[in-house]
Amino acid sequence: MEITKIIILQGAKKSEGLIFPKPEEALIEVNKMGLFRSPHLFFVEAKNRKFVDRAIEVLRREPESSLSPLFSNLEPSPEFKKLVDGVEASLSNESIEKAREIWETIEKLVPNPYATTLPENWRMNLLRFLVTRKIEEISPVLNRNSVIGFFWPEAKTILRKEEKGRELEDLELMKRQKIFSTEIENKTSLCPFCGYYNLILREICPNCGSVKIRLEEFIHHYSCGYIGPASEFQVGDKLICPKCHEELKHIGVDYDKPLEKYICDECKSVFIEPDISVLCANCSKTFPPENIKEETVNTYILTPFGKLVAAEGKFPLNIFEELSVQLGVIGFNLFIYILDKFLKLAKRYPERTFCVLGLKLTVKEEAITEAPTKVKLFLKDLVSIIKENLRSSDIISSSERRYILILLPETPPEGAKVVVKRIAEQVERLLKVNNLTDQIEFKESYICTDKGITDLSAEEVVKELFKEMEK
Ligand SMILES: [Zn+2]
Ligand SMILES: [Zn+2]
Ligand SMILES: [Zn+2]
Repeated sequence: MEITKIIILQGAKKSEGLIFPKPEEALIEVNKMGLFRSPHLFFVEAKNRKFVDRAIEVLRREPESSLSPLFSNLEPSPEFKKLVDGVEASLSNESIEKAREIWETIEKLVPNPYATTLPENWRMNLLRFLVTRKIEEISPVLNRNSVIGFFWPEAKTILRKEEKGRELEDLELMKRQKIFSTEIENKTSLCPFCGYYNLILREICPNCGSVKIRLEEFIHHYSCGYIGPASEFQVGDKLICPKCHEELKHIGVDYDKPLEKYICDECKSVFIEPDISVLCANCSKTFPPENIKEETVNTYILTPFGKLVAAEGKFPLNIFEELSVQLGVIGFNLFIYILDKFLKLAKRYPERTFCVLGLKLTVKEEAITEAPTKVKLFLKDLVSIIKENLRSSDIISSSERRYILILLPETPPEGAKVVVKRIAEQVERLLKVNNLTDQIEFKESYICTDKGITDLSAEEVVKELFKEMEK
């Protein structure tokens, strides 16, 4: 395999290759010419570092060019350092050779199936960038512009995050998918409301919460016993007791200074220890220090499984998310809210019967890793079975990545029984036909207003259902 095209950005000095003044233009033109599929390389020839940085960012965030070998004549900013394949004044044969080697690893990858501009595609690009560059880990860098005070430069650019630190969510998702393992690198403190790190700690009055507090020396007047802040005694350059109006002359003889105390200018209270209040510079909310969210900041290390995911171009299947999306579920909190309304209504009008149906799906890990397509097809059929047996007025939700909850309004217990039985029978048949009985467990349960549930809260009703399905 040979490099067929050298694409030069900005530098018009070279006589060979395709020359573009702007990286965006290069992307459009090169795409039109269909060059992205064949071995090529980019060389950024710039007069200043800013241009190099921008070119790297533009090329790496585009799915078509995120893996392209990329060299520059100037050193980029530290943020972009790991995203270039080499820095040299002019393109050498060694670099062309290196580009050729990168292409050899790219060619070994199964073509990326995520053709759309979805975050999933960007995550795959990041993984593939790491494996084609033999980068084993992504480390956090301290940065005051990041929302969490740290960011992961390679991930931020390839995952197309506008704000530094936002790539954390994707990295954590891939950690849950076992693509990355982690090692703690540092810690950060975040606002519990908005997740930003910009927190200001202030000492405040424990009585009224005002920040207008000051530390003062207190004076104890021996002869009359009065104790008060030094400022009350200060008259010109003399110390006069505000209570008995005697002049204080000798410390240790007339008076002493037993301690320092805080005084609040707002409510006048006196105290020894002020409270600490945290103010978030981003959302302006205040809260006590114990509510600060302490988070670890990790280095993400590519696992052997992660490398496999990159090579095959397929993310592990997330059964429950897939199912929830296909069923078009509503959020769990909203479901609880609606269920609460139904319970209240049924309590007042006993004829307004309804039922709640619970389905539980447990899929063995090996079924997902060994026969993902089979499981995917099963899910598709399961969704049709559930949908066929429901009415459009039924409300579906999911919880704890295990349970599907369905509210059947205006349904008597007999009605729910029929629906549950039909679903269970059809699913059982489906599992049998596909030889999945050992791999997938399906359980169902239901509860109706005739069971005296109208005295329970929505959460309690749902808990009852879960308990039933765990039997
Ligand atoms: Zn106060
Ligand atoms: Zn006095
Ligand atoms: Zn905040």
